[in-house]
Amino acid sequence: MRGNVFDIQRYSIHDGDGIRTVIFLKGCPLRCRWCSNPESQSSKPQLFYSQSRCIRCLSCVSASTNGEITASDQGPVIHWQKCGSEEAIKLAGVCPADALMIKGQKITVEEVMQVIRRDRMFYERSGGGVTLSGGEPLLQPEFAKHLLQACREEGIPTAVETTGYVPWENIARILPCTDLFLYDFKSPDSEIHRSWTGVDNKRILQNLKQLQTAGANIHVRTPVIPGMNDKPETLRKMAVILDQLGITARSLLPFHQYGSGKYRSCGIPYSMEDVQQLSEERMMELNQVFLAQKV
Ligand code: SF4
Ligand code: SF4
Repeated sequence: MRGNVFDIQRYSIHDGDGIRTVIFLKGCPLRCRWCSNPESQSSKPQLFYSQSRCIRCLSCVSASTNGEITASDQGPVIHWQKCGSEEAIKLAGVCPADALMIKGQKITVEEVMQVIRRDRMFYERSGGGVTLSGGEPLLQPEFAKHLLQACREEGIPTAVETTGYVPWENIARILPCTDLFLYDFKSPDSEIHRSWTGVDNKRILQNLKQLQTAGANIHVRTPVIPGMNDKPETLRKMAVILDQLGITARSLLPFHQYGSGKYRSCGIPYSMEDVQQLSEERMMELNQVFLAQKV
């Protein structure tokens, strides 16, 4: 069983309890304007260029097959419109400095488990474990299930971060081997949700309800995005929906610009470059609204 993985991060403390290894699965049905992992969205392999690592050896120019990389005085120039997944795959291993990487590798459950096992001691001491993230990990339900089962068999706690925008069957398949769902809920208004993420929120809310009815352990996470959901009245509406569903575990995640450089690295336009982060005071005010229970 192989999965399409674009990154594995060890020692994460933001994606569930304790110290965790986060496995990032590639492919997402959403296109959030603020996405901090643009390389996660397409399920195809893609080139990722890190200018700070480049030693300007120009080996990639010689290996280029479609004119996708040319030379300049400043180093290589990538012509993204000519650089599809076929070209990206051909460039694998060419760069001696890891400045050119291919995001999206097919790897086996056992290969991932070999990385996961290295930090078993940290999971045990901190109450941590493994989190599947993405992209949307439940676009690969069979791989996710096998990986989560393998963790369970070795006594490693499991969490899944999901958009909820998948068929219910995909969620049901991993339900028995998932200790915690980190569930994204972005906007209470379906049309606003669509305009900021590319999809409406109906399936997301329906699956959230079904997951709660199934007795899953759910923690809802809401990214606070200026212009989309950063008004107290919007977050109050969301809190009421969660209260009605009986979901008390919830957090706000402040908008940030940490991923902005990644857009340049994978040649994807980024429309939120000039958007300011919210102040701590503002986040505290919004948290008070969002965390307050009404029913
Ligand atoms: S759901 Fe997450 S990974 Fe997918 S586009 Fe939105 S922010 Fe990016
Ligand atoms: S092969 Fe790597 S280090 Fe050399 S120019 Fe290309 S990106 Fe830079």
